[in-house]
Amino acid sequence: MQQWQHTSAGEVATPRSGLSLPPIAPSGSARHTTREHVPQRAAVKVTTTTTTQSDATQRGEQTTLSKTYEVRGIAALVGLPRLQLGAVLAHELCHAFMHLLRFPRLPPVVAEGVCELWASLWLAAVADGTEEQGQGAAEASARLLQLRRNADPVYGDGLRQATACYEDFVQSRGVTGGGGAAAELLPEFMKLVREKRRWWKKAGPPS
Ligand SMILES: [Zn+2]
Repeated sequence: MQQWQHTSAGEVATPRSGLSLPPIAPSGSARHTTREHVPQRAAVKVTTTTTTQSDATQRGEQTTLSKTYEVRGIAALVGLPRLQLGAVLAHELCHAFMHLLRFPRLPPVVAEGVCELWASLWLAAVADGTEEQGQGAAEASARLLQLRRNADPVYGDGLRQATACYEDFVQSRGVTGGGGAAAELLPEFMKLVREKRRWWKKAGPPS
């Protein structure tokens, strides 16, 4: 996925590509909320705010500094099979998540590995029927196996190492068997990825 550049004014410049997106309406004055209404024209929009300590605090006032980070679009090829599209979007949403939350630059095996983990968790949810009443479960299982057996040193090895770290993390929290309870731990796991910037568990070859 291409990187979206931030200008000094805090505006997001769209990457130079054939992708043309309508402008997002200006968000107006700074808000003191962490989320706001998502305009129809934006694919994903999250507003983050940072509260700063300042001299004003000592006078019993509080100064709030607001910063807005945006992702203007996520592109996917037309005509992808439904489950492949879902997995691609889960992967790209992970890239968007890391961009919006200002993750540091990660080695490709970490960045692509964790995005493949998001895709695999979505496929696993379809495969075990917790997503959309079991429709396409067999196809989801087959696609999941394909991801897990990918011999690519970045995407395949990255996924295997991400999975080893994620499963270890989930077990350390006393959750077994994956599913929804494990998925709820994903934000916390992402914090760990951001902090460590590398995989901390070795994974075996594709099985
Ligand atoms: Zn990617």
